[in-house]
Amino acid sequence: MSDCLFCGIVDGKIKANVVYQNERVVAFRDISPKAPVHILIIPRKHVISVLDVEASDHALIGEIFQVAGRLAREQGIADSGFRVVVNSGPDAGQSVFHLHYHLIGGRQMAWPPG
Ligand code: 5GP
Ligand code: ZN
Repeated sequence: MSDCLFCGIVDGKIKANVVYQNERVVAFRDISPKAPVHILIIPRKHVISVLDVEASDHALIGEIFQVAGRLAREQGIADSGFRVVVNSGPDAGQSVFHLHYHLIGGRQMAWPPG
C-alpha cells in the first residue's frame, strides 16, 4: 500500500534501523522506544491487524514469533524476559495499520499493562 508507513520501510523508501530481514519479515528499532530493547517485527505483506490474518498467513505468523525469539537471544533479553505485544484497534492504541509485533525488554515491566 503506497500510503502505509511500514510498507514504506519494507520498500526502503522510509529509513529504519533494520536489525533483521528475510523474504517475508522485517524487524527494525522503534523510533520511540519504550524500553532498552524495543523492536518492531512486521510481515512484508500488508496485513492491517490481527483481525485480517488469514489461513494463508499461518506460517508467516509462526515465523514472526520465531524471529522474535531469535532477536530476544541476540539482544540479550532471552533470560531476563521480554514481551511480544500486538496492539489492535483504538482501546489498545494501535497507531500504524500494518500488522506489527512489539518486542520489548531490558527492564522490569508491570502487569496488567496500562
Ligand atoms: P502501535 O501504536 O500501532 O502499536 O505501534 C506503532 C509503533 O510504531 C509505535 O511504537 C511508534 O513509536 C512506531 N513508529 C511510528 N512511526 C515510526 C517510524 O517512522 N519509524 C519507526 N522505526 N517506528 C515508528
Ligand atoms: Zn503496509
